[in-house]
Amino acid sequence: MVKRFDRDRLPDPVSGFEAEGLTLKGPGLWKTTACPFHGGRDSMRINTESGAWRCMNCGEHGGDLLAFVMRFHLLEFMQAAERLGAVVEDGTPSRPRPKATLSPAAALALIQSETWLIACTALATADALPDEQDRARLIEAARTIQHIMSEVPA
Ligand SMILES: [Zn+2]
Repeated sequence: MVKRFDRDRLPDPVSGFEAEGLTLKGPGLWKTTACPFHGGRDSMRINTESGAWRCMNCGEHGGDLLAFVMRFHLLEFMQAAERLGAVVEDGTPSRPRPKATLSPAAALALIQSETWLIACTALATADALPDEQDRARLIEAARTIQHIMSEVPA
């Protein structure tokens, strides 16, 4: 399975930092919290919109929640993204994907319907390019076919 980072699934900075155990205090865009790196009580500033963080005392800093999780837990990018629930298996977003246990017959039926969609669109657009949505659906159809090819045992 191909795993992929999906930024849209990141928690908002406030809930993300709170889930990491930080207590954000104060009004305004920048909140104050204890620095988990050097132990100071209120030296860290966190931007509630971007998630940027900086300790005014020890100087630890980063551009967003992901950078914080990487630095604090010493994780690689994808590990940090996974911890934050922002990793999906490729192809997951909108439609449920065919199961890995797809039977050859079901796979063929799915390929047939996806191919039919491509053929119909090709006919309907003989002298006009498909619009953005049509193109996106065609690409999805092609990816579905590719996915089936990779999942069905030879
Ligand atoms: Zn610090």
